[in-house]
Amino acid sequence: MHSATLAINETLEARRAAGQKVLHLGFGEAGLPVPDSVAAVLAGAAGRNSYGPVVGSPAAREAAAGWFSRRGAKTGPEQVLFAPGSKPLLFALLLALPGDVVLPCPSWVSYAAQASLAAKRTIDVPIPAESGGVPDPRLLEQALGDAQATGARPGILVLTVPDNPTGTVARVEHVREVCAIAEKWGLVVIADEIYADLVHDGRAPRATDFLPERTVVTTGLSKSMALGGWRIGMARVPHGAWGRSLLNDLVGVASEIWSSLAAPMQAVACHVLQDPPELMRHVDRSRRLHAAVAQAAHAEFVAAGAVCRRPEAGFYLYPDFAPLRPVLAGQGIDGGAALAEALLERHGVGVLAGEAFGDAEDGLRMRVATSLLYGETAAERRQALECDDPVSLPWVASSLERLRGALHGLARQG
Ligand code: PLP
Repeated sequence: MHSATLAINETLEARRAAGQKVLHLGFGEAGLPVPDSVAAVLAGAAGRNSYGPVVGSPAAREAAAGWFSRRGAKTGPEQVLFAPGSKPLLFALLLALPGDVVLPCPSWVSYAAQASLAAKRTIDVPIPAESGGVPDPRLLEQALGDAQATGARPGILVLTVPDNPTGTVARVEHVREVCAIAEKWGLVVIADEIYADLVHDGRAPRATDFLPERTVVTTGLSKSMALGGWRIGMARVPHGAWGRSLLNDLVGVASEIWSSLAAPMQAVACHVLQDPPELMRHVDRSRRLHAAVAQAAHAEFVAAGAVCRRPEAGFYLYPDFAPLRPVLAGQGIDGGAALAEALLERHGVGVLAGEAFGDAEDGLRMRVATSLLYGETAAERRQALECDDPVSLPWVASSLERLRGALHGLARQG
C-alpha cells in the first residue's frame, strides 16, 4: 500500500494541477528554498560518479561525527552510516534488530508499515497528555506485559523527539522514564531525531543521554535543511562492540538494497554538517518561520472549537475535533476519514486523518502540516523566510483566512 503521506501529496498536487483550489496541509515537506551555497556544492560535485563505500565517504562521516558531537552526543566517524534518507535506515534497523516494535500512538505513518513489511508485530502505547513522540511511561510496562502475554516479543522502542504528527517535544522526564523501562526490558531504542534542529525554543531531550549503549539515532537533512527530495539520511550507532556489530548488520542490508548515498549528496552532507554560519542562520530563520505559522494555524483550530497541543517543534499540529462530535455527526461525519474527506471535498482543505498514525477509526483527529503555506513560488518562500512577521505576508494571511473559513464552515453546519 502507498504510504499515506506520499499518497495525499500526490492526490492534492493532481487536484491543483487540474486547476482546483486546494489548501495543502497534508504533507510533511519543509517548504523552503535550497540555500545558494548548498546548490553550488551539489553542482560542483556532479562529476562524482563512483559508488564509494556503503557507509559513506570518510569526509562525510567525519563531518557527521562533528555534527552529532556539537549537539551533545560525542561521536566518532566509525559510528555513522549514510543512506538515501532516514526512512531506509529505519527499515534496515527493523530488519537487523530482533523483536517486535513498541510505538507511541499516534506516531509517524511509516513505522507500523515498515514493521509489518519486516514481519514484526507492533505494540501501540498512547502518548502522554503533555506531548507526543514517546509512549506514556505510566502505561508502557503494562502494555509490554500484556503484549508478552499474547505472544509478542517486544524488542525495539521507537521514540520521535521532536514528534511528527503532534509537533511537540517529549518532556525530559518522560524520555528518561521510558529509557529506564527500555533498559529493564532489554529493548533497543531507535531515536528518530529528524526534527531535532527545529525545536522552536530550546532543545529536545535525547535518549542517548539516558541509554547511550542501546540507543540508535536516525536523522537527516530532509527537515532542518528542507532537502527531502535529495534524500540525505544518516544513523548513529552506539559506541562499542554492540554498536559495531549492528553497523555491520546495517551495512549488510544497505549493500544489498541501496549500495550507498549518491556521491554528490555526500558532498552536500559534508558541507552542511559542518554547520557553516550562513546555514546556521538559515536554519534559525526557518525555525522562526515554522513556529510563527504553526502557532497562527493552531490559533485557528482552537478558535473553531478543536483541542490541540501547542506546537513546539517543526511544522505540524494534531487537532482533535472531539468537542464538535455532535455538530459533525449532524453532517454524517463520524470518524477521522470522513472528517478529512469533508474538509477536502466541501472546503478544499487537504489534511491526513489520524487513522494513518494509528488512531481508532472513530477518532476525530487529523495531522495538519503547516509548512506548505509559506508560498507558491520560490520567491514567496524566500520572502517568508526573511520576513520578521511572515503571518502578515498577503499569501500566508490569505491561506490562514481560507483555513479559518473552512473550519468555521465545518463547525457551523448542522
Ligand atoms: N521520521 C519522521 C518522523 C518523519 O516525519 C520523516 C519524514 O516525513 C522521516 C522520518 C523520513 O525522512 P527522510 O527519509 O526524508 O529522511
